[in-house]
Amino acid sequence: MKLITICPHCESKVKVKAFLVGDRLDLAKAKGKVFEMRCGNCQSRLNVDVDDVIADSDYTVPIVSGLSLIGAIVITLFFWDVGIFAFFTLVLPIIVASSARQNQRVKIRLFNDLYYDSKRLRIP
Ligand SMILES: [Zn+2]
Repeated sequence: MKLITICPHCESKVKVKAFLVGDRLDLAKAKGKVFEMRCGNCQSRLNVDVDDVIADSDYTVPIVSGLSLIGAIVITLFFWDVGIFAFFTLVLPIIVASSARQNQRVKIRLFNDLYYDSKRLRIP
């Protein structure tokens, strides 16, 4: 999961750097309700409200999927003689990728549904 906001001047996506932030309340605690940033594209100074920050998916899922596929192929080749391990090549990456995707989707929805001002969960 990555956090972004849209620059009001050039409408490009600006990445918000935040460490271990689960929702907008965390973000407000870490950076303040409104924090200053600079747009990497047009260099203008932005006053970003935490409610204007959006969670988006990053490359975690494709990277995790790729690594688990490589891992599964290695396991299968290593245990090739045993035979029964061959199904890991197919099953392991699917399980890992879908749980990573599910995990990220939940985190993104949690962040995007909870607004600092309303202080309540909005059920879509
Ligand atoms: Zn900009």
